[in-house]
Amino acid sequence: MDRRFFLVLLLAGCADTSPQGPLTPLTPALPAPAPTGGPQAQTPPSPSPTPVPTGELSFDTWLGDFMVRAQAAGLSRPFLEQQLGGVTPDARVIGLDGRQPEFSKPVGDYIKGVISDDRVAVGRRKRAELTFLPDIESRYGVPRDILLAVWAMESAFGKLQGDFDVVRSMVSLAADGRRRGWAEGELIAALQIIDSGEVTRAQLKGSWAGAMGQTQFLPSNYRTTAVDADGDGKRDIWGSDADSLASAANLLAKGGWKPGVGWAKEVILPAGFDYGLSEGPRELPSWWEAKGVKRADGLPWTSADAASPAGLILPAGAAGPAFLALPNHFAIRKYNNSTSYALGIGLLADRFAGGGPLVGTWPVDAPLSLSDRMAAQIALARLGFDPGPPDGVIGAGSRKALRDWQGSRNLPADGYMSMDMVQRLKAQAGIS
Ligand code: CA
Repeated sequence: MDRRFFLVLLLAGCADTSPQGPLTPLTPALPAPAPTGGPQAQTPPSPSPTPVPTGELSFDTWLGDFMVRAQAAGLSRPFLEQQLGGVTPDARVIGLDGRQPEFSKPVGDYIKGVISDDRVAVGRRKRAELTFLPDIESRYGVPRDILLAVWAMESAFGKLQGDFDVVRSMVSLAADGRRRGWAEGELIAALQIIDSGEVTRAQLKGSWAGAMGQTQFLPSNYRTTAVDADGDGKRDIWGSDADSLASAANLLAKGGWKPGVGWAKEVILPAGFDYGLSEGPRELPSWWEAKGVKRADGLPWTSADAASPAGLILPAGAAGPAFLALPNHFAIRKYNNSTSYALGIGLLADRFAGGGPLVGTWPVDAPLSLSDRMAAQIALARLGFDPGPPDGVIGAGSRKALRDWQGSRNLPADGYMSMDMVQRLKAQAGIS
C-alpha cells in the first residue's frame, strides 16, 4: 500500500507497482505499491527554511535539525519537546520499509484474491445495511460500490487499521533518510494534527508507513481531505464508518472522479489485434470498436462512457482478460498508483453492485522471483530497450521496454512479464 492519495509518493516515485510492490502489513493478501499505504499525497511537504539534507545522519543530529524546520512550519519548541523528547527510531518500521518481496504474485492471483467470495459477501451486506451511503454518493458523486471497495481493500472494512504510533513511524522514516523529505512533511502534518487538538497522539494510529484509519490516509491527506459526515464535529477516520467513507469519497472527488462515468469495462479483442496498443492511446470507445474491440457483456456504452477517452489494459497479457479503462480508473489511481489496484477496486465494486464474474479467464502463471525480475530488466537494458533501473519492480517503464522488445522479435507485444519472457530475454542477452 503505500501512497497513496495520493501522496507524492515518492514514494512517490513509485509509480505503478502492483503486484510487484511490497506487501503492506495491513493487507497481507494484497501487493502494494510503494512503501506506505494510503493515498498518495498530492501536496508537497511543508516548506522548510533550509533544504532537507539527504544521506546518513546520526539520529540526534537529524532530530535537532528537524526541530528547527518544524518550528519554521509553525510548531512551538515546547510542543515539539513534549512530543519528540525521548523518541527513538522504531527498528520494525525501518525493516519493513527496506523489504523487497522475494516473489511477486501473478496479477491473476492478485485479482482473484481481491475479489474473494467472503469479501464480496461482506460488501453486499454493508451495502444493504449502511443507511448513510446514498447521502455520501449524492454529495460527492462517487458510487457507493467504489467506496465500499476502497474500504475493503484499505482496511478490510475498518478491521485492519494498524496500531503503530504514526509520529514515531514518521520519525523513524525521516531519520533513516531514504525518503526524508517526504517523511518529514508527513511528520510535520501529524504533529500539526495533534497540535490542533483535533486528534490526540494516542489516537493517531496507523500502518508502519503512517497510513491511518479506515481509509489509510497519510497525515497530509487527513488534514486536507478528511471530513465529518456523521455530524459530531469530529473527522474520525478511525472510529466512524460514515466519516471514513465520506473522506474516501472526498479524496476521489478531489482526484478527478467524474460522476456518471465508468471505471473500466471488460472487452474482447479480435484475432490479430495489435497488443502494442495496451497502456497506449486513450481514445473514445468508438475508436476501439473500429479496431474490432467489443464489450464482453455485449451491452451498449452509456452516453457518458461513449464520450470518454479509454485506454486498453492487459493486466496478464494477451492470454488474460482485457479491459478498456475509463477516466475514473485513473481517479482510483490517486489512491494507489497501480493498474492492478485500480482494476481490483473497480472489479470488486462491480461485484458489490451485483455483477458476475469476468468472461475472460486469468492464465495460471508462476510467480517471478526478485532475481528473475531484475535479470529481465538487465537483459532488456543490454538489448537496447531501457526499462529504467533494475529494481525488480515491473512497472510502466519495464512493460514499455518489454513491449518494444517483443515487437522487435515479432512476439505479441503485450508487455506481460511471464516466466517464458524472462527466459527468452535472458537467453538472448546471454545471461545465465
Ligand atoms: Ca464525525
